[in-house]
Amino acid sequence: EAELPTSLRLERLTRQALPDLEDGRQFVILSAPSGGGKGTVGKLLEERGFGRMPRFTTRQARPGEVNGADYFFVTREEFLRRESAGEFLQTAETHGELRASSRVLLKEYLDAGRKFYVEGSAGAYLEFINHPDVKSTRYLSAFLLPPSFEVLEQRLRGRADTIDETEIRERLAKAVEHLEKTRSYPYDAYFVNDQAERVADAIAKDAE
Ligand code: ADP
Repeated sequence: EAELPTSLRLERLTRQALPDLEDGRQFVILSAPSGGGKGTVGKLLEERGFGRMPRFTTRQARPGEVNGADYFFVTREEFLRRESAGEFLQTAETHGELRASSRVLLKEYLDAGRKFYVEGSAGAYLEFINHPDVKSTRYLSAFLLPPSFEVLEQRLRGRADTIDETEIRERLAKAVEHLEKTRSYPYDAYFVNDQAERVADAIAKDAE
């Protein structure tokens, strides 16, 4: 046991400390720095019966991404209109693009008793969980830790979307900042994203 790497010990400790909720959990919040594996683990959660609650974004769709399933891709104008109409739980700007999660959708999904997950950058997390509409729910918040900084860098470089060297540098710097900040964030559990299938199984189990 003492031989386990620190990150895996952290995963084990946080998972063991999860309270048993009589009525189970309603949804999963999947959080990680850019390149941490939200997209990958999210897809695997979908194979395990979780729906994805799409967020709104002003960024361009990447190849293969579907409007209304992965995200709602909207213009800045539409985004700002929805924001002022009070439709969002939280908004954040990263890499020059706006993102938000929808109050309206959250209510719909909860009312329908759906099993789902929502992903969000570490930057958006605190604001999201502190919204009264979220505070009154039972969720499992999961933070994906990269196995190492080197692996995170490799994964960011290997990702299918085209980002240039400057952007990779920016994202890595941002990841360090996020990992430092999140040490004091109230995540329910940490998961080391070594093997995505293992992580998806673990999250699905803990979300029961
Ligand atoms: P995020 O959505 O958090 O930015 P992604 O899911 O896009 O992260 O993952 C970043 C890159 O790392 C992708 O190319 C993905 O295929 C790869 N990746 C993610 N998780 C793993 C894993 N457990 N093992 C190997 N590669 C992974």
